[in-house]
Amino acid sequence: MASSEVPDLSKGEPALKSEITRLNKIVRALMDRAELSTTVQGSDFSLFQTAIMLEERVRQRTMELEAALRENEKVNHALRDSEMKFRGLVNQSLVGIYMIQDGKFSYSNPKFDEICGYTTDEMRELSPLDIVAERDRPLVAENLHKRIAREIDHVHYAFHGLRKNGTEIDVEVFGSTMEIGSKIALIGLALDVTERARAEHEVKVLQDRLREESIHDGLTGLYNRRYLEETLKRELISAEREGHPVSVIMGDLDHFKAVNDRYGHLAGDEVLRVFGALMKSNARGSDIYCRYGGEEFVLVLPGMARDKAAERAEQLRSAMAAVPVLYGTTPIIVTASFGVATFPRDGSTGDDLIAAADRALYVAKAAGRNRVTVSSGPIQQRGPSVLDRS
Ligand code: GH3
Ligand code: MG
Ligand code: MG
Repeated sequence: MASSEVPDLSKGEPALKSEITRLNKIVRALMDRAELSTTVQGSDFSLFQTAIMLEERVRQRTMELEAALRENEKVNHALRDSEMKFRGLVNQSLVGIYMIQDGKFSYSNPKFDEICGYTTDEMRELSPLDIVAERDRPLVAENLHKRIAREIDHVHYAFHGLRKNGTEIDVEVFGSTMEIGSKIALIGLALDVTERARAEHEVKVLQDRLREESIHDGLTGLYNRRYLEETLKRELISAEREGHPVSVIMGDLDHFKAVNDRYGHLAGDEVLRVFGALMKSNARGSDIYCRYGGEEFVLVLPGMARDKAAERAEQLRSAMAAVPVLYGTTPIIVTASFGVATFPRDGSTGDDLIAAADRALYVAKAAGRNRVTVSSGPIQQRGPSVLDRS
């Protein structure tokens, strides 16, 4: 073989070694033959020359092969090095790594085995759907099929995983495909996001609760003043657009301070709860019932004209007056006064409307309490002196 020909390294180290051995044997045989012919037939110069030439060729070839061996060793070393690096990386990865070939997990790193709760050997026997909770199997199967059919290259989705011990986990996968030979392999990264999903759920529950708390009054469960102001604004905008009325009833317990003084603060609280429940009773879906202040409550009635609202207020008044509030076994008789105002007649903004209902309420108080007064119009028509409640 000419020295420019590249030895076939693919045969590997043992093949090269055996070729060297084979060549050495040939040289030895030729040398023996040359020696023999010299001894038997006298000097056979040409055979001797051939042997020398061959020996030189073999020496060269041996050198080439040894160089090839060294090169091979270097390549092997580099490969081993690289393999060790990648193995170290995937073995210590905090992310699960897997490969699916012919419907089975042909590779999984220790983290993936840990996520699924199986040993490496057990993993090799599993097909992908074995680690998926039953209800998510159609979803996962569809994603696998789409990749196998080369409809999509990448997937990123979450599913409920099923561990060996039967517990469910939240798994997030980033999958893609890879060609190995002429076959397709599905590869991917998997994360156990159970804790994250749980934390996200808890945060959401907390946010919902905070939001609920931020718009509700803790004692009565009614909406608070902040919520009322926000929604009343919106209601008035839509009422103006649709040309509908919006009525507001403001109710205030009569001599409530005296209730507290006589029965105690906790009894007063119970009266507030009962009055709040009364304001809420018979409410339509669109009504907004709210604890406006200490013992003041506001009921917003979208689409309700003033006469109807006045009727509603009268029902509330009579209901409160008719039945004493029971605090334990103690009956507490409490009445309330009400002021009614209606958009657009008594005010065009939420503040104006509430102020008009408040003025009407004040009139009811001044007239002896336990009564309903309907607003007689916006502030401009009545003059400021009537509003002075001090
Ligand atoms: P009026 O008939 O003029 O409305 O007299 P009133 O005594 O009801 O009115 P006033 O404004 O003088 O007193 C309101 C009282 O409501 C004073 C306050 O201690 C009480 N109050 C406010 N918030 C609460 C609460 O959350 N619980 C209890 N128990 N009392 C409260
Ligand atoms: Mg009061
Ligand atoms: Mg008051």
